[in-house]
Amino acid sequence: MTKNIEVFPGDEVAVEEEYLASDGTFAEDGKIYASQMGILVLDDDECVARVISPNPPNVLRIGDTVYAVVSDIRNTMATADVVAKDGTKRGLGGETYATIHVSKISQGYTDDVSKELRKGDFIRARVTGISPSLQLTTKDDHLGVIRSLCGTCKTKLVKKGKGLYCPECERSFSRKLADDYGDVKL
Ligand SMILES: [Zn+2]
Repeated sequence: MTKNIEVFPGDEVAVEEEYLASDGTFAEDGKIYASQMGILVLDDDECVARVISPNPPNVLRIGDTVYAVVSDIRNTMATADVVAKDGTKRGLGGETYATIHVSKISQGYTDDVSKELRKGDFIRARVTGISPSLQLTTKDDHLGVIRSLCGTCKTKLVKKGKGLYCPECERSFSRKLADDYGDVKL
């Protein structure tokens, strides 16, 4: 049963005659102590004492929508650092280094990653794989670049046609844009 008691590391939570130490607990001299902060669970079916964390790491799952910053462009993929998961303010646990394969960037055929994404672009993406490494896609209309700065003058690029435009340099750039580029409230 869950007693809903908040315990701290080192708190005595049970005795070994009744329970075995398990996740978040340890046994010493016949007594069981909490090894982490959390909620005490005394499981009478399995006879184990657990302390579960009220804030488990926010690990990414397949299908999650995330925000990421493009960190590098290579021949067949882009790499990105995931900085947030859509719908939560909690920090991310686990792997945040992700790859986006060239075939998963846009709906049309692309053989040049740098026509779709550039280093420093802020993107919205969806998780398509978590093992052996984090993999993302930006294929859908609502996915892709949501904020980008000019590589030359750092001016915020504006949407123009299907691509981006720097009003300072008066140059156009191609990108895989999200449908709400420039109008994103985080
Ligand atoms: Zn510029």
